[in-house]
Amino acid sequence: AEVYLNGRFMPLGDAKIPVLDRGFLFGDGVYEVIPAYHRKPLRLHAHLDRLERSLAGIRLANPLSRADWEGVILHLLRSHEAANQAIYLQITRGAPAVRDHRFPQRTQPTVFAMTKTLAPRDPRISEQGVAAVLREDTRWQRCDIKSISLVAAVLLRQEAADAEAEEALLVREGWVVEGSTSNLFVVRDGILSTPPTGPELLSGITRELVMELAACESLPLIEQPVSVEDCRAADELWICSSTRELLPVTRLDGVAVGQGLVGPLWHRLNAAYQACKADLEHG
Ligand code: PMP
Repeated sequence: AEVYLNGRFMPLGDAKIPVLDRGFLFGDGVYEVIPAYHRKPLRLHAHLDRLERSLAGIRLANPLSRADWEGVILHLLRSHEAANQAIYLQITRGAPAVRDHRFPQRTQPTVFAMTKTLAPRDPRISEQGVAAVLREDTRWQRCDIKSISLVAAVLLRQEAADAEAEEALLVREGWVVEGSTSNLFVVRDGILSTPPTGPELLSGITRELVMELAACESLPLIEQPVSVEDCRAADELWICSSTRELLPVTRLDGVAVGQGLVGPLWHRLNAAYQACKADLEHG
């Protein structure tokens, strides 16, 4: 597989950036992750639209046109052996000659893209679900920007791993906003809820897709704040992201969610999600 760096395709081992790159020094950049099935990206335009918003959020001009991004992505997808892949895009504010917090003048951004195999989901997940833990959200106030400054998310996800859980669900002033690397859905009495988008969470592309699929299935869904109590009292709890799709959470802080089993609505929406992937292959 090849990677893309600043206008050229090359083997991963040849891709090098200067140590003064502001991504390295400050985490001054944004990124995007796009799933692809049978070498066809899922919701490409929604991802590139979000990249545009993330770039605007850090006051960086988009270095590539939409057509150029598509060209890079299709090239990478073709160069990789696996049919199902996760494309990673990253743009930083470049590598000026000196370290200074203020924006550099006349410095070209660093543009990087790579792809990796999207591993199939462990079949035990649809039988048993996954565990999650609640944690205080220690991230910044602009979680709507897909920033590469991820140290808070790294620590939170590791805390989940240390607790043998798949995800940390993040609590801000009593409200559960999202996971460290995923969005959140709660089912109670047949009604779906998900926290509304805003600066405190990333507007997930998978979240949007799940909302559309719920509408197709005529399942009632409300975008409304979700409390810790809502999560603890839920019949079903789900997390979703581009690389993990839709996952049922059956244990929260070591306690069973609902009956502690993978719920019927998860099965319904997961089937719709899988059908959507299959349409991509054949369409
Ligand atoms: N929230 C956060 C903090 C994330 O890192 C991710 C994964 N990128 C998501 C939500 C899910 O977003 P998406 O469905 O677009 O992958």
